[in-house]
Amino acid sequence: MKNIPVVMIIFGGSGDLAHRKLYPALFNLYEQGLIHDNFAVIGTARRPWSHEYLREQVSDAIHETHDQVDENDVKRFASHFYYQSHDVTNVEHYETLKKLAQELDDRYSAQGNRLFYMAMAPRFFGTIATHINDQSLTGSGFNRIVVEKPFGHDLASAEELNKEITASFNEDDIFRIDHYLGKEMIQNIMPMRFTNPLIKNICTSENVKNIQVTLAERLGVEARGGYYDTSGALRDMVQNHIFQIITLLAMPEPKDLSSSSIHKAKQDLLESMIIPTPEEVEKDFVRGQYLGSDNTFAYKKEPNVDPESTTETFVAGKVKFKKGPVADVPIYFRTGKEFKEKKNRIDIVLKHMNNPYGQAHSNNITIEIDPVSKIYITINGKKIDTSGIRRENLTYEFSKEEMAKVPDGYERLLHDVFVDDSTNFTHWSELKRYWEFIDTVEDAWQKENEKGNPKISQYLPYRMGPKEASDIFESPTEHWIYE
Ligand code: NAD
Repeated sequence: MKNIPVVMIIFGGSGDLAHRKLYPALFNLYEQGLIHDNFAVIGTARRPWSHEYLREQVSDAIHETHDQVDENDVKRFASHFYYQSHDVTNVEHYETLKKLAQELDDRYSAQGNRLFYMAMAPRFFGTIATHINDQSLTGSGFNRIVVEKPFGHDLASAEELNKEITASFNEDDIFRIDHYLGKEMIQNIMPMRFTNPLIKNICTSENVKNIQVTLAERLGVEARGGYYDTSGALRDMVQNHIFQIITLLAMPEPKDLSSSSIHKAKQDLLESMIIPTPEEVEKDFVRGQYLGSDNTFAYKKEPNVDPESTTETFVAGKVKFKKGPVADVPIYFRTGKEFKEKKNRIDIVLKHMNNPYGQAHSNNITIEIDPVSKIYITINGKKIDTSGIRRENLTYEFSKEEMAKVPDGYERLLHDVFVDDSTNFTHWSELKRYWEFIDTVEDAWQKENEKGNPKISQYLPYRMGPKEASDIFESPTEHWIYE
């Protein structure tokens, strides 16, 4: 791997994301030589830490995530880290940060390359981008910025944030990160769709009955009640992860594998996305809240959650496109907290065909994303002892050894930022369409709330969410494949 010279500034250097994800990911890239001699990282946060203390934190983060490490490597790696106490809302603090960045640029021959990582609460993103610009923190080489999710709370706030960031950075240098796009099975969707005639030729409007995306979580809101109550499942999971998955499943084949061709294919698809009317929202969407096992309110009693909350901890819905290989095919999705198990999966359900045997099971192509990674195709065959039909799975599964080699999503995506590959990041044009869809659903729900009798299905924990989630299917022969 080529060594990329850079000074990286992490806003939120004492936070959870930096500790659990960014420091271990950077270490792995360091071990592979992508960043090596000519890199320095400035961790910033308000606390008065020393360089030495940050290095200890970095070293702890690596030990917590790696079974075996070479202590000399850890020491050498941590020596590239510097701490700067910095309040992002204080303009004067950017002056000190700028001086340190310039000093490190000289010391490490970083060629004026800067990478800014916003690992902080989203309300600060706009402020940071503005001050990077007005305090001239940018360098003379490349200047890239990584923006964490959520990118906005609705279309208006996302547009405002985008305006603030694009005032300082070109679209090509903005990396809106969704770690979901770094996952192995998500990255497997395109090769699977476009290298297998078996899948490519079958996954068309003519053959596919519906597509189902399920992101089920076992946990409740835990300590995130305050944040979650202002967000809900639609904004927290559908606006980003679920839409990214659906886009990859439904987009036309790109001209080639360049980032621009892939984004063009995604954009073509998303322009044809059908935005639901309020009547369609009522018919095609279900929102829910988890109860306790004793059938009484549980979400509404979580710490920092409004006891009258109408925020959904579950949502099921439908999306369709006018163009692309699966134009007009219903794509159903659902996500929620306190399901019976954590399970992230995609089911592509094929249409039945008439056959001389009478009954047969549907053929499904299933992609399991988490916690296991596998793909299987359900097919029909003959029972041994009778002429009846049995169902079997053809499975493509990763071994434990292979799974152990799969890099974390953050490692993959940070690598992509260093080598300037924006394929697995969200372009503004895509994000805008996602928000347009989400806003329409949120508006319809808001109107329902204002009428005083919102339809929010209450569901028991550790099962499959509200039973009303099955009401959104277009025909009585459709059902959730994962039950
Ligand atoms: P966190 O609360 O653990 O960390 C926030 C950081 O910001 C801390 O270092 C804190 O000291 C610093 N900070 C707060 N106010 C500041 C100020 N005025 N000036 C300077 N520094 C200040 O949050 P986190 O969990 O690390 O999340 C950071 C971002 O990453 C969020 O946007 C979150 O949505 C996103 N994210 C986090 C995770 C995760 O696993 N933690 C996963 C995906 C996305």
